[in-house]
This record gives sequence, structure tokens and C-alpha cells, in this order.
Amino acid sequence: MTQGFRSAFAGLATFLLVSVPVGAQELPVVRVIATGGTIASRPGDDQLTGSALIEAVPQLAGVAQVEVEEFSRIGSSGMTPNHWLLLAKRINELLDAEPDISGVVVTHGTDTMEETAYFLHLTIKDLRPVVLTGSMRSATAVSADGPANLLTAVRVAADTNAGGRGVLVVLNDEIHSARDVRKTDNNRTDTFVSAEWGALGVVDLDGVTFRRSGETLHTVQALPSVAGVETLPTVPIVADFAGNDAMVLKNWVGQGVAGIVVQGFGGGRTSPEMRRAISEITREGTLVVLASRVLEGRVIGSGQQAQAGVVAAGDLPSHKARVLLMLALLNSRDGMEIQAIFDTH
Ligand code: ASP
Repeated sequence: MTQGFRSAFAGLATFLLVSVPVGAQELPVVRVIATGGTIASRPGDDQLTGSALIEAVPQLAGVAQVEVEEFSRIGSSGMTPNHWLLLAKRINELLDAEPDISGVVVTHGTDTMEETAYFLHLTIKDLRPVVLTGSMRSATAVSADGPANLLTAVRVAADTNAGGRGVLVVLNDEIHSARDVRKTDNNRTDTFVSAEWGALGVVDLDGVTFRRSGETLHTVQALPSVAGVETLPTVPIVADFAGNDAMVLKNWVGQGVAGIVVQGFGGGRTSPEMRRAISEITREGTLVVLASRVLEGRVIGSGQQAQAGVVAAGDLPSHKARVLLMLALLNSRDGMEIQAIFDTH
């Protein structure tokens, strides 16, 4: 780790490399990057360190040579776009510098795992597996799911067949694409689901099984690298509701944002005032991405709408559309070009 990189984390996040001597020499090397979340939490106490997480799962020694570093010790509701950028840079640097690493596991809170995973899916420039995992029950709960999820995530990261599929989310013995996965239950351990398209695979006692791969662009084929990017454009999400006066949308435009994601009703349709406000603000140059609050099915746009600066989110929910719009705005301000990015990523 360079000093420059360490100082980039000042006050935001830190990481610390600890080599944990588990795993026989011939096993694949997997680097675990701990960020915090329920997987590391004990009621009324500090979050567990990355090495404590690893030491709690001695079975890892039979799967991989596990190394661990700490990026942060925060709940995922505290994650910001700056954290996403720093984490992507850290993983890209690590994979560049260490050809012997087979894969990376990121432990993360489940609340915003979807955003972090999709951001990494679009910005990691390497084909080796990067796997996010977490837990719904704290480390001291009866039947804590963290240890099993960590073990399965490391098994996936150590599997040569897991590469080239983009960033993966592994919990509850299921392997999901970062693009399609959603947290669907506030409490249950089977909360992560790729409802419309299905999981990519499963992890069973005898090994890792893949049954499909995603079709959209990711990692090395996705948008240009963010290596030189210091900050991401501000992109708010504005939810529509019956009887909306569009005040929140107009306020955001007053802040000078380049783009806004509107979470509309079915098909991305919006209430009358929102519709009027959207045509006004897009005429003045703010880009709008229309997503839907409905769980499944695409929001379908048109070339004419895109030309006017109204982009359809397709099947991305508003919080993932926001991630893609932030990255897209680094490359273009043109509605048609951004629609093409949404159609392919
Ligand atoms: N509060 C936790 C978080 O960091 C929830 C979890 O990890 O499940 O997102």
C-alpha cells in the first residue's frame, strides 16, 4: 500500500492488511476486504475486525489461503459514493499488483450492498471474481448466518469458473449477479433475490455450480475506468406519489444537479405535475432517468424521449439507475448516448 493511497482514506475509511495463516500453500489465494455491517456486529459492542471475522471460520483453511484487510468498519447505510470510488480503486490496484490472488471477497452491510456491488460490477477492470457477502443476523445471534455466508463467498471467489461473470453477491448458498440482485426482505436470511432473471448459481456441499451468466456489459467491457476520478456527480432520486406537486424535483434542479432519477409508477409513468416539471427541466438541460417503483418488468423509452433528455431505466431499480447515471454522466451529457449506456449495462 502506498502512503498516497493511505492518505486518500483520511477520515473516511482505513485498511489494514493482516495475513491470517489459514489455508495450505497450494490452495488459491483469496483476499477478504472487510467494510463492516451486521456480519461484523455484536450488540452493544464495536464491530468485529476483519481478522476476527476470518478467525471465527476455521473451515476457511480447507478452501483457500485467506488474507484479510480492513477498508472500514461501518454499517452500509453510512456508505457514500466516495467509499464506492475508493473501494473500486483499492480492488483494481490490488488485482493489478497481485497476479497470484484468485479472487476477492468484500464483507459489507446488506442495506446498500446492491449499490456497492453494482458500482463495482461497472468499475472493476479485471475478470477475476469479486464477491460481496454479508449477513442478516449479527455475529453473536443464534444461527448467525455470517460465518456460512463468508465461507460460501470464499468458495466462490476461489473457484476458477466464477471469473468473467462480473461482480457477484453470495448469501444463503446462492450466487447472484450484482446487476440483478435485490434485497427483498427486511429480516429473513433469504433476502437476496434476482427475481426476474434468477440466480446465476448455487453453492452446495460438493462445490460451486453456475447455471447462467448475465448478458449486460460489466467489468472490463463496461464504461471507462474511474482510476482518475476524484468525485462522482450528484444524482438524487425523487420518488413520485399520488398528488405530487413536483416541489422536491424542482428544488433539486435549483441545486444545479446534472441528472436526476425519478422513481415513477408502473412503466415509469408519473403524476401530472411531475410530467410537466420533467419536460421543463429536461428542456433546460437536466437529464432525467425514469425508473419504476414496480418490482419487475422494464421501463420502456423511445428515441424521441431520449433525444429530449428523458432516459428509460429499463429493468434497473431507481437506486441502481442512480449508480449507472453517475458513471454515465462522467462520459456523456447526451440523452441518446446515455440511453444506449442504459440499454447495454
Ligand atoms: N445495518 C446493516 C448494514 O450495514 C444491515 C446488514 O448488514 O444487514 O447494512
